[in-house]
Amino acid sequence: MYKQFTTDILHLPTFTLNDEGERVEDGWVLGVEPGLQSHLCPLCFQESINHARNKHRILRHASISTQETIYIRVPVHRQRCEDCGITWTVEWPEIPVRGNVTVHFKQMIAKRGIGQSFEAVAREMAVPPSTVASWFYTYAEETLARPSDYEAPQALCMDEFAHKRGHSYSVALQDAHTGHVWQTHPGKSRACIQEGLRRYPFQAPEVIVTDLAPGMAQTVHEIWPETAIVVDKFHVIQLFTQALDRARKLEGNNGTSHKNIRHQRRLLMSHPKHLKKEEKENLRIWLGENPELKKQWVALQKFRDVYRAKSYKKAQKALEDWCSHYLFEGANATKSIAKTTLKWKQEILNHFIYQLTNARLEGTNNLIKTLKRRSYGCPNMYHFDLRIRMECRPPA
Ligand SMILES: [Zn+2]
Repeated sequence: MYKQFTTDILHLPTFTLNDEGERVEDGWVLGVEPGLQSHLCPLCFQESINHARNKHRILRHASISTQETIYIRVPVHRQRCEDCGITWTVEWPEIPVRGNVTVHFKQMIAKRGIGQSFEAVAREMAVPPSTVASWFYTYAEETLARPSDYEAPQALCMDEFAHKRGHSYSVALQDAHTGHVWQTHPGKSRACIQEGLRRYPFQAPEVIVTDLAPGMAQTVHEIWPETAIVVDKFHVIQLFTQALDRARKLEGNNGTSHKNIRHQRRLLMSHPKHLKKEEKENLRIWLGENPELKKQWVALQKFRDVYRAKSYKKAQKALEDWCSHYLFEGANATKSIAKTTLKWKQEILNHFIYQLTNARLEGTNNLIKTLKRRSYGCPNMYHFDLRIRMECRPPA
């Protein structure tokens, strides 16, 4: 068994294995010996001599399976300077001065905290959850990507996410191409967003994808005047789906089961091409009975033409035609959407120049939701930021 191990795969480059390993109940204890090194006196920087090595420590180092742990037996070397008359204990980079685990063990536990809850790691590895958290955050701080190692992203996505439902928010800035979250910044007010942009560790991007929050374009342009803004297609279509949902509620759902509500929403909001034949038929009958709902639904289908356009020019014409019609025709909800899309016309059309969507960030938002459940609301924003950024790291 022990022959499988080398100090390389054990992540102990300073050491060599010096025994055959001893079987213990839950694994193996491997004796290691540091390679020849000289140790300078911390006072006079002259060579020191080995004074004593009669003690050792046994530390948890790795696990080869859930049942098997590798411990290492590390000698404690005492050095002495003959000139100064002082003695001290030699410190190895792989071995913390205190405690009963190695640096590698801490990192192994920390890495397991990516993609699962600290509680799950704690149960599996028999380490207290608070210890898992503490090692994770230390590891995160040491290994998070440094902006100086990367080119400035050309395109960013910006989106907000809630920490606790409706109580506190952060805004995330993510590379639109790699999906890496470079920054999360607390708060979603104008002042908070602008502070976040000022702290962003790179030059301003060429383009940023945002949602339709009122004043967002101005908020960004006051800090990054040259950056083009794209509003995400998802958020534009969401204007319609939210209005449709309000209209559906007004039609009255008394007696409609939860399952039916979900079915109705799916019929209304899906692109017709994603509906089955009988679903289309159900939708046709339902809309026939609800003319107000039908008007809004038709407006949405016509708006989809804007995003079907094959060029900027064609999209521009489709959007202008749609707005000039629905500013005056149709339901009040549709008129209100027409006003909003007119206000955001350039940012909507920029979609056709930059071909970017917030799809990645929406994926990240799902991940953030999962993280929140895993971390029970994560009261500490700084730690939550570390967790998000560890899960959304740039490709190596
Ligand atoms: Zn000395």
